[in-house]
Amino acid sequence: MSKQKICPECKGLIKPGRTELIYELSGVKITVKNVIANICCKCGQSFISGRVAEDVNRLVNRVIEEINSFIKTQPKISRGRKEVAIAV
Ligand SMILES: [Zn+2]
Repeated sequence: MSKQKICPECKGLIKPGRTELIYELSGVKITVKNVIANICCKCGQSFISGRVAEDVNRLVNRVIEEINSFIKTQPKISRGRKEVAIAV
């Protein structure tokens, strides 16, 4: 028997799905797509488990390090806004 999860915001039903997370670190915008989450059918609020959030954080930190070391080798593109999209 599985217990149904209810959204604390709107009391809608929460179902497993996928979402995307957006981070902005060191002037770089990182979009992580396809993150496993529980999503409210009614208001669309997504709930991510601590375990998944931890994995995503680790991934984002690694990407940031790689971007920073890449930028150092490419001084001409170091200005302006950067965007990176990752699908997990
Ligand atoms: Zn809701």
